[in-house]
Amino acid sequence: MTARRALVIGGSLGGLLAAHLLRRAGFNVSVFERNPDDLTGRGAGISTHPQLLEILARIGIDFDESMGVKLHTIFCLDRSGRVYLEEKTNRTMSSWGRLYRSLRDAWPSENYRLGASLMRVEQDAHGVTAVFADGTRAQGDLLVGADGGRSTVREQLLPELKPQYAGYVAWRAMLDESEVPPDIRGEIFERYTFCLPEGELFLAYPVPGRNNETQVGRRAYNIVWYRPADPENTLPDLCTDATGLRHGTSIPPPLIRPDVLAGIKASARALVAPQLAEIFARAKQPFFQPIFDLESPRIVFGRVALLGDAAFVARPHVGAGVTKAALDAASLAAATSLAAATSKDDVAVGLARYEREQHPFGKGLVALGRQQEGAYLSAQLKPRAERRGGELKRDIQDVLLFHKTRSENLRKVLLAARASVP
Ligand SMILES: Cc1cc2nc3c(=O)[nH]c(=O)nc-3n(C[C@H](O)[C@H](O)[C@H](O)COP(=O)(O)OP(=O)(O)OC[C@H]3O[C@@H](n4cnc5c(N)ncnc54)[C@H](O)[C@@H]3O)c2cc1C
Repeated sequence: MTARRALVIGGSLGGLLAAHLLRRAGFNVSVFERNPDDLTGRGAGISTHPQLLEILARIGIDFDESMGVKLHTIFCLDRSGRVYLEEKTNRTMSSWGRLYRSLRDAWPSENYRLGASLMRVEQDAHGVTAVFADGTRAQGDLLVGADGGRSTVREQLLPELKPQYAGYVAWRAMLDESEVPPDIRGEIFERYTFCLPEGELFLAYPVPGRNNETQVGRRAYNIVWYRPADPENTLPDLCTDATGLRHGTSIPPPLIRPDVLAGIKASARALVAPQLAEIFARAKQPFFQPIFDLESPRIVFGRVALLGDAAFVARPHVGAGVTKAALDAASLAAATSLAAATSKDDVAVGLARYEREQHPFGKGLVALGRQQEGAYLSAQLKPRAERRGGELKRDIQDVLLFHKTRSENLRKVLLAARASVP
């Protein structure tokens, strides 16, 4: 019997996880990535969960010391830089670049096509065809849309669906460990650090360095700072470059105006602990990402399946986008191989099971991301008189608890989704 062929659109973490697991399920898999060059570090720290490590192990990737930086303390700094809460933790902070490298290095280059920008998908009862911008076509039995939050595959299949802006952005910065002043480094570098300016949330922690090193002195420091930005004035202003051109709801980092960068660094000095402001001031290219919720009403369309951020985007407070992509990929591979063993039309049968398992899971994660910090941050755009309960005031213990129980919350959402599968 000839192997079934799977076309994976998008060669980032979701696409590579799907490619590895589908190959193990017996598919002949090709990955198509729009970028012309191999993807490199995207300046992002990534929290991991046990489910992700278990799936990486299945692929043959050992989550050893080199995969991340181990942290043993969480603490919270007030505006003056004083520690007002400190707790033990046991977590490993990885990075987008480190995870990508391990998945990419284990994948054959002849089955990973760069510079392949999908334009549209065609399908009939016999197969599915991907049509690329350069006019080339590829045919398969299954097509996986792992092309991210702005998915071309999803836009073709669900043209009406638009991501919903949550009312705030995440400012992000990554610095080499050597750029952090030594006195501050000794005090906070190896701790997961919180700072809670009114209406905002500032997080900072170490991650593998620019070449994925985890040795002391060669690591990097990752900052994520959530700040409200109203969609009528602030966000459009942030997205307008120095020539006056407005770039939709996000802007390439090098085009962020100098006055915007000076403004965000001045805000750090005014609002967050001085140690954190000092580090943030040294960041060469801070950038921001608007926070969106995205819920697809369906994730399967004939022979096409959406996966990872292309299917659902949950807010980063759940810290589980990559783990979700891995669980989607595992469900897809298991469902299609189970169907292959029992049915003639295995792709359709397998995809129906994938939809039943992963649609409620994605929906549950989006709902989780809207709770707690998500609700508090979104509410900052409402007049104060209209805010209620946790929208008005937050308790640092609750913030830490939500953060510390992320893996447990993820597990509960997964169990609830599985329980709903007939
Ligand atoms: C502030 C912030 C913090 C986060 N923190 C965490 C965390 O701690 N832990 C965690 O697990 N997740 C975190 N996430 C989420 C996580 O980064 C994403 O969920 C995850 O990277 C999604 O992976 P993906 O492969 O589905 O999509 P993407 O990484 O977006 O990849 C899509 C790929 O498809 C390609 N592509 C797009 N269109 C086409 C086309 N037409 N043709 C071919 N290729 C195409 C793109 O070039 C890209 O390489 C965070 C997100 C944010 C914003």
